[in-house]
Amino acid sequence: MVTRRDFLERTALVTTGALATGRIGRSAARFFPATGSGPTRGMVPTVLGPIDASKLGFTLPHEHLVSSSAGFWRAWPEFFGGREKFISMAADKLRAAKDEGVDTMVDLTTFDLGRDVRIMQEVSRRSGVQIVACTGHWHDPQLSMGARTVEELTEFFLREIQRGIEDTDIKAGVIKVATDQEGVTPFLEKALRAAARASKATGTPIETHSWALPPNPNGPLQADVFESEGLDPAKVSIGHSDYGDIAYLTGLIDRGFSVGMDHVSRGVLPPGMAAPAGMEPYLWEVKTQRIKALVDAGHANKLLLSNDWLFADSAFATGTLAQLERANPDGILFLTRRVIPYLKQLGVSNAAIHTMTVENPRRFFGGV
Ligand SMILES: [Zn+2]
Repeated sequence: MVTRRDFLERTALVTTGALATGRIGRSAARFFPATGSGPTRGMVPTVLGPIDASKLGFTLPHEHLVSSSAGFWRAWPEFFGGREKFISMAADKLRAAKDEGVDTMVDLTTFDLGRDVRIMQEVSRRSGVQIVACTGHWHDPQLSMGARTVEELTEFFLREIQRGIEDTDIKAGVIKVATDQEGVTPFLEKALRAAARASKATGTPIETHSWALPPNPNGPLQADVFESEGLDPAKVSIGHSDYGDIAYLTGLIDRGFSVGMDHVSRGVLPPGMAAPAGMEPYLWEVKTQRIKALVDAGHANKLLLSNDWLFADSAFATGTLAQLERANPDGILFLTRRVIPYLKQLGVSNAAIHTMTVENPRRFFGGV
């Protein structure tokens, strides 16, 4: 049983820099035993309890059941047709994914994006797909998180990793943080630093949302913040990096970071539509060829492949998801149905595909 005082003492140690500088004395070590205060090495928390990392299997590391905002499910469940209807729809879709070989999905919906862990739990139970929940924060702060300090955000992330999400014992298995077109704003820098500190204290990995489009891609700026916190880059995957060219991607990989190639499905055009001028580098075929080039360069062990798909949305204008579905009717199965077959056609080996879809997630989320 962790008392509030224990919890505060523990987080105080993190935030006073004792951990950041590696000065963990005997008394501090009391709060960070090898097991118990963070995910046990080799184990991954899921919404149905911890599992051995070797059980993750084929993993989609960057997906969403729903993107919304904090409290929306409670305030207006009818918007999504009600909880039960949404749960059975999402479970049906994930059961189909399970039938096609998807064992695990990591849901990168943070608290502020409308995460509902009880819905995740029920969808996992009914579909048989293992779901890993996240802590962290997206790039659009609401009042109560926007006003928090780095230390307070660290405390919140640790609460969700160590104690549980809301009043459940479901623990977060990954920390999600973000920067978008606006770059590293003061709030987002606080969130990035807090993520680094919570990761250092617990070993929990970090996945980001980044803006990788020229002229101001900001994955390297995220990397700068993580490095300045002394975080091992092997703990971080810079997400949505597939908009970047090979030089951009290898720049991050050479610094030790993994890259999330998780927006390939956004490069598919609706039937009959010609590619708009300037879109060529972002077409799904071109992005897939870039994955192949990185594999050929020996970087398969730094690539995390996913779809960043969602089954419901209230964060964007009504009709946005329908538009995405028109372009990509395969939804969360775009990777398995189109990207992987195309990679094989390009000559990427089954072993490299296994590395990217099974071994990398096992190592990244399990720390082994
Ligand atoms: Zn996402």
